[in-house]
Amino acid sequence: AKGAGRNDYRFFSPEMDARAHDKLRLENDLRRAIERHELLLHYQPQMDLLTGKVRGVEALVRWLHPRLGLIAPNDFIPLAEETGLILEIGDWVLNTACQQLRRWREQGQTDLVLAVNLSARQLQRPGLDLGVARTLAASGVPAHCLELEITESSVMQDPEQALALLRRLHQMGVLFAIDDFGTGYTNFAYLKQLPLQALKIDRSFIQGLSQAGGDDAAIAEAIIAMSRKMNLRVIAEGVETEEQRLRLQSLGCDGIQGYLLARPMPAEALMAWLAGHAAH
Ligand code: C2E
Ligand code: CA
Ligand code: CA
Ligand code: CA
Repeated sequence: AKGAGRNDYRFFSPEMDARAHDKLRLENDLRRAIERHELLLHYQPQMDLLTGKVRGVEALVRWLHPRLGLIAPNDFIPLAEETGLILEIGDWVLNTACQQLRRWREQGQTDLVLAVNLSARQLQRPGLDLGVARTLAASGVPAHCLELEITESSVMQDPEQALALLRRLHQMGVLFAIDDFGTGYTNFAYLKQLPLQALKIDRSFIQGLSQAGGDDAAIAEAIIAMSRKMNLRVIAEGVETEEQRLRLQSLGCDGIQGYLLARPMPAEALMAWLAGHAAH
């Protein structure tokens, strides 16, 4: 550019232009993804370690892009958050997952708890509690069968607003779990004010469980001990080995989720998986 500083060429590099273009294109595609029915949900079971029974399932969104194929949430949720599209996507996820739970309940799975991820933007929107109430009413799903997963950082973006919202939803009977616990900057004084029922230990700490005396194992143990004292359910995410499961069981962890049990899968596959699991 004329008259620009000598380092300005960086802003006009073809690669960067291509990347910005790709991003804009992806954003436009994402804007239409819902109406074009390109979003889909997979469900991953969560097992109770005490009873060995499936306690619930977590809904995880995917995007089947017509040109690029299946896109993982980590590759489009950040863009959705940045652009605000996450509000519309979040509504779609909650509605679709609750409608699915209704069908499972009609097929006799009345004890299943449905876990749904909420992003920071959703927690900042004042009408969320009304939206959730409407979705529950429309699907006939009882509030105590819905567990909303939130992260420490998303709560801390606007603590006052988040606390008020969580309290209203808690009064309705909705459950809350802190997701990826241990990876954010935890404010314990604030955390204890939240109406929480569960903590999910981040996968990164579970991976280090087998190294005796390692830091990850120490952190996982501390989170489990603290959760028990605070009367919170504690769930380990990303459990991949039998060794990890046994270790978690001996530490008193309440539940596990991970590839050891099952990968996230489409709703029909989950129903078949549940039938097989119950037969064992
Ligand atoms: P998350 O909520 O922590 O979800 C768990 C992620 O770990 C999932 O990745 C799941 O497939 C993966 N996982 C489960 N078990 C194992 C295991 O044993 N080993 C390994 N290596 N991975 C395992 P996924 O589905 O790609 O989702 C990534 C993240 O995207 C989620 O992390 C969540 O933060 C976000 N996400 C997914 N769906 C939604 C949604 O509907 N709304 C929002 N706001 N975020 C979502
Ligand atoms: Ca989650
Ligand atoms: Ca998680
Ligand atoms: Ca995670």
